[in-house]
Amino acid sequence: MTAFSRPRTATESQVTSNVMSMTTPASVPTESQGAIRGGTVTDRLVEANERYAAAFTDPGMDAHPVLHVAVVACMDARLDLHQALGLELGDCHTIRNAGGVVTDDVIRSLTISQRALGTRSVVLIHHTGCGMEAVTEDFRHDLEMEVGQRPAWAVEAFRDVEQDVRQSMQRVRTSPFLLHRDDVRGFVFDVKTGLLREIDPE
Ligand SMILES: [Zn+2]
Repeated sequence: MTAFSRPRTATESQVTSNVMSMTTPASVPTESQGAIRGGTVTDRLVEANERYAAAFTDPGMDAHPVLHVAVVACMDARLDLHQALGLELGDCHTIRNAGGVVTDDVIRSLTISQRALGTRSVVLIHHTGCGMEAVTEDFRHDLEMEVGQRPAWAVEAFRDVEQDVRQSMQRVRTSPFLLHRDDVRGFVFDVKTGLLREIDPE
């Protein structure tokens, strides 16, 4: 089942959510189906959210991650962090960007995660077949040529995914802003098998 395959109105979801029906509503044609077909991707997301919210109950949590862990990962669409790591709602912080690179902004998020919200462990996840391996620093130059302005950020492209995991671990371990720098582990997620492979920090 995908979120997009079951167009329903919020009203229908409210009616059926008590019986946890996972199958019947999809077969019921509704006015909203036409709207979804003609809508943008964002319209589909908003529609899916209405169904989500209709079945949602307040978990009663505060903002502190239950497992006291922050996961830094690539934004790759094939990497479902919660499924792949057996995480539940409220368990962890997830910080994602192109490559899962530990940039200054990731350090910013980790600093807040640790100092304001109590996380102590850091898990770094890169993956096989990352788009960042196909990008070069020429990207930055080409961008400057096209728009007439040099981006303030580094592209952070990499050739060797293992080496980039090591570099990311090193950036966490040497950051003066973080409270907890001992429990930092790095992995490469295999998009073909779904398995994590741990990278030796040395
Ligand atoms: Zn990637």
